[in-house]
Formats: sequence, structure tokens, C-alpha cells
Amino acid sequence: MSIQFGPDYVRAIAPYQGGKPISEVAREFGLNETDIVKLASNENPLGMPESAKKAMLAAMAELARYPDGNGFELKTAIVEKYGVPQEWITLGNGSNDILELAAHAFVQPTQEVIYAQYSFAVYALAAQAVGARAIVVPAKNYGHDLAAMANAITADTRLIFIANPNNPTGTFIPAADIEAFLKVVPQNIVVVLDEAYNEYLSPEVQYDSIDWVRQYPNLLVSRTLSKAYGLAGLRVGFGIAQPGISDLLNRIRQPFNVNSLAQAAAVAALNDADFLAKSAQLNAEGYRQLTHAFDAMDLEYVPSYGNFVLVRVGSDEGAGARVNLALLKQGIIVRPVGNYGLPQWLRVSIGLREENAAFIEALKKVLA
Ligand SMILES: *Cc1c(COP(=O)(O)O)cnc(C)c1O
Repeated sequence: MSIQFGPDYVRAIAPYQGGKPISEVAREFGLNETDIVKLASNENPLGMPESAKKAMLAAMAELARYPDGNGFELKTAIVEKYGVPQEWITLGNGSNDILELAAHAFVQPTQEVIYAQYSFAVYALAAQAVGARAIVVPAKNYGHDLAAMANAITADTRLIFIANPNNPTGTFIPAADIEAFLKVVPQNIVVVLDEAYNEYLSPEVQYDSIDWVRQYPNLLVSRTLSKAYGLAGLRVGFGIAQPGISDLLNRIRQPFNVNSLAQAAAVAALNDADFLAKSAQLNAEGYRQLTHAFDAMDLEYVPSYGNFVLVRVGSDEGAGARVNLALLKQGIIVRPVGNYGLPQWLRVSIGLREENAAFIEALKKVLA
């Protein structure tokens, strides 16, 4: 028998399944890369901001040197935007990094991590990587059931993940509900409020989570530059929390976890209000385009507050995988979500007008 390395809980990890890269689909199905439409990873269809591109080109001159390990300029941009002290900020190699750091910093093997059914797959991975017991609370209408999550707290609970809006379902928790939840969670339990899609929220539902960080020393808000800011490939995100949390995260992060180009681009993007507004507007238009088409095709979808829509493409267990394969053959990449326990559904990222149209046309053909 061969030697088994590492603990059982590490060997049991099922690796994260991302969206298929365009190059891979081109090879696999004999298509031209330029004919392929990728609506699979909630990326910004506008590409990266020009302001960020410029900042990166300028930063290239210094690439022989290590990055600023404290990310002074990027933290300064965050301080100016959110009005928090520098010490409250943890920079991450994507906000994924922040989620993992939280699990490593606050959870020991056999302690409990709570998250919702159908919430972001990284919560399960982060919990499992540290040998935690995952407490998965059944969803309500495909979203978080915060009352049930509060009821799931035990003496062993150390960390709770909440995504608002949630991925892959796009559901949204109103501010009042989150605030009520924060009030009842014991102060020794860290709550991660993952706001990867916050910038897409309309002004009517937008809320001030940073104000909650001031009130609740056990709250960690995570943000990313990967979605509305258009920098997914650079890997940069950040966490905001009081020093009791952020000090520990900064101790265990890699010293240079955010590279120089990412730092320079992120500063430019955070200050690029025009790009952000344009992204949000394009997204709102694309959402209407997609959901009108789903309505016309009589397809069920979950109302979404993010830059993607979860749509039910059939009533049998094989529907999502089957429709996904048929779409791939037509050069349309979306995300099957069978691994989330949603085998009848597909998650479609909102793209440019013509990309959405190509997807709708292909979907009509497949379902005809
Ligand atoms: C995309 C996403 C993230 C993080 O992405 P990064 O690229 O690692 O910043 C975090 N949470 C949710 C819910 C997401 O959908």
C-alpha cells in the first residue's frame, strides 16, 4: 500500500471548478477563440479600465523589485474611499485570499464554520482546508436563511460566511436583516460579509457595511477588484475589520501577497468612478435583456443582484449538464452548477449586449 500524505480532511477536498477557459473550449470543440463567448466567471465584459492599464504600464519599470509588502498606496486609496484607518485593512490575492486567511486565522480542526446551502464554493474549501466542521444551513428561496444560521451557532462555532449578493444564486439580504443578525451573533465568532458584487447594487438597496465594521469588532467585510472593477486576472481584493481581526490576518498572509502591478492597477480602478458607473449600467441593461428573454421562453430564474443570472434550463437531473454541453458546442461558455446541488440550472454571467444575444439565440436553439 502506498503512503498517504497529509490529514484525511485535506485528501477529501474536491478542487474548485472554475469557468472553462476560452482556449480550452476552442481546442476541445474545434472552434476559433474569437468566435467563443464566455459568460462563465462573472468577469467584467468591458475588460479592464484604461486607467488601470496605464498605471500598470508605469509600474512595469519597477518589476525587478519586490512589491510594497504593506501596500501603502493601495491602502491609502481604500482609506480615502471608505474612511477607515490603514490598520483595519488586509490586502488579499483576490478576496479569495481574505476568505482563506479568515479560516486559517480563526478556526482549528473540528471547530465549526457556518455557511448557507448554495453559497460561494470557496467557503466549503476554506473550511475543509483547516479541518473544520462545515455546518451548511439550508437555503430559503435560494438565499441565506439568517434566522436558521443564527440557530445553527454552537459553542464550537468560530466563523460564519455570508455572501451578499450571493454567488451563484444572485440573492440579496436586505441591510436590516444583516444588522439584526450581527446583533445576535456572539462577539467571539467572526462574521465574514463577502461583498464581491456590492458595486452592482442599486442605490435603493445599497447600505453601509463599513459602519457595521465600526460597531462590530467581530465583523470582516471582504471586497474584490475582480468583478465590477474589471481586474479578475490580477488577483486583488481586501478585507476591512477592526484590529482584533485584521492584525491576525496580516500576520499570516504572505508578505507579498499582492503583486506590484495589481497594486498599481487597483489604485487606479478604485479612483475610476466613471468605469464603475459604466459597468453597473451595462450590467443593469444586460440583466433586463437576459430576463426578458427568459420570461419569453418561460424559463424560471432567480432574481439577481449580481452580474449573473441563475436560470433553470430543464426539469430533469441531467438538464444543466446537457444544455451546457450543447451550448459549448456552439461556442457559448456558461457555468453548470451541479456541484452546488443545482443540476437543473445554469449560471450565466451578464455580458455585452451582443454576447447576451448570442447566448440567448444559442439557448433557444438548444431548447427547441
Ligand atoms: C468572485 C467572488 C469572490 C472573489 O473573487 P476574487 O477574484 O478572489 O476576489 C468572492 N466571493 C464571491 C461570492 C464571489 O463570487
